[in-house]
Order: sequence, then C-alpha cells, then structure tokens
Amino acid sequence: MPDLPLVMWIAFAGVLGLVVGSFLNVVILRLPERMAAGWRQEAREVLGLEVNTGPLPPGIVRVPSHCPECKHPLSVLDNIPLFGWLLLRGRCRYCKVHISIQYPLVELISGVLSTVIVWKFGPSWAAVAGLLLTWTLIALSGIDFRTQLLPDQLTFPLLWMGLVLALLPMFVTAPSAIIGAAIGYLSLWSVYWLFKLLTGKEGMGYGDFKLLAALGAWMGPLSLLPIILLSSLVGALVGGSLIVLRRHQREVPMPFGPFIAAAGWIWFVTGDGLLQGYMHLTGLR
Ligand SMILES: [Zn+2]
Repeated sequence: MPDLPLVMWIAFAGVLGLVVGSFLNVVILRLPERMAAGWRQEAREVLGLEVNTGPLPPGIVRVPSHCPECKHPLSVLDNIPLFGWLLLRGRCRYCKVHISIQYPLVELISGVLSTVIVWKFGPSWAAVAGLLLTWTLIALSGIDFRTQLLPDQLTFPLLWMGLVLALLPMFVTAPSAIIGAAIGYLSLWSVYWLFKLLTGKEGMGYGDFKLLAALGAWMGPLSLLPIILLSSLVGALVGGSLIVLRRHQREVPMPFGPFIAAAGWIWFVTGDGLLQGYMHLTGLR
C-alpha cells in the first residue's frame, strides 16, 4: 500500500464508507424485492399455474436511482451520500415527498464504522477484509429490520470468506474457523429447537444460525459466547424499551439478526483487547 499518514487512510475510509453506504441502501431495498419475486414465480411453477414472465423488480446495479414516489431520476447532487439528504432536508427535490431517514442513517453508519476498521487495522489486507465484513453486516441488519429475513445470498458468502481467510490465516486459524462456524450454527439451532419444543413458538430463524456460523468462522469459537451474551443484552434492552414505549406487541417478531451483527462487529473490533484484559485480570497471562 502507498505510504500515506494513517489519518489520510482513515479519511479515505470514511468517504469510501459513505459511498458504499448508498449502495448498501439499494441492496437493502431491492434484494428482498427480487427474492420475493423469485419465490412467487417458483410457487406458480410448483402449483402448475401460468408462470408470469413479466419483468422482475429492478436489479441491484442496472437501474439508476430514482425517487420511489415520483420516479424522477436523481441528479448527481442529490445522490451525494448523507449530504444530499441533508441538503434536501429529507424531501424529494421534485415531488417533495418525505425520504426515509434510513438512507442517510445507513450511509452514516457505514462511513463511521469504516473509519473505525481502518483506524484499528491500518492500511492492510486485514482492513480490506474487515470492511467487507462490516458492509455485509450492515446490509444484513437493514434487510432483517425491514423484512425479518437474512438472505443466504449474504450470509453464505460471509461464511465462505471467513473460512477461506482462515487458510492464510488472517484473523483465526483454520481449525478455529471451522469449529467456530460449526458451534455458531449448532448453538442457536439447539436453542431454537429447545424453545420450539417447550413453547411451540419460533424464537428466531435459520438465517440467525447462518449469521452466527459466519461470525464463528471469522472470529473462532471463543467469540461466540460474548457475541450471544452481548446481542441478547442489547436485544432485551431495545426490545424491552420498544414494548414499553410503543406498546410493541410481544407476539410481533423482533428481528434478532441486527443484534447478532452488531455484537459480532463490536467483538471483531474490541475482542482481542477485551480477551487480553480478561486474561490479565484473572492471572491467565
Ligand atoms: Zn419524488
């Protein structure tokens, strides 16, 4: 990598994160739409109904961004991540319809988290891998929030990537990654079936198991317990306050994926420091 001061790399990561964030917005919106359209077609095939050969919803890259309400294509200026939304004060320039705060929020989160990754890992391949992990986790969280889905199209590549990086090894060794992936999947899978047998309800989905398997592949088996504890804690806090504040019905499912993703990301950035501190305190090291 070229020899630049770290602060330049961090600034570059922030700008890159903002730009990627606006792409993540498109993924969050359009990937579930395309998945649903595919399922509808498959279902019609299975039922022996006439298969609708009409156009699929817009692709993720092909169609330029436009206002969801008036369909007016967005200018380069409106498309500037975060600042475009701020300049327009959250309204479409052409039809004045309210533009969801999701757009600037995802871009801001992507920008900030990207700077943290480069600040931690410096200009390195580990930072590149960390950025890919970060962006995929943001897309997964956004999709889970909106649709209660964690698409295989995102969880599986994350899992494969964690396993392949362990061959180098980059963050953990290959045995660690394989055991982490297996335990990650099976731990939530067991909780799911235990909960289902006891209560007859489904507390989470298979996407959650796959996401934790992917995180286990990236960070090894030691990361799993802290990730589950942290995600349950944050999930309980957020879920509890939602029930109190908005009288969110207990029966309405709350996505668990964003909490696993957030806990996993926090452990990815701080885990080594926390583990060392813990070992130091307990005299293990
Ligand atoms: Zn509009």
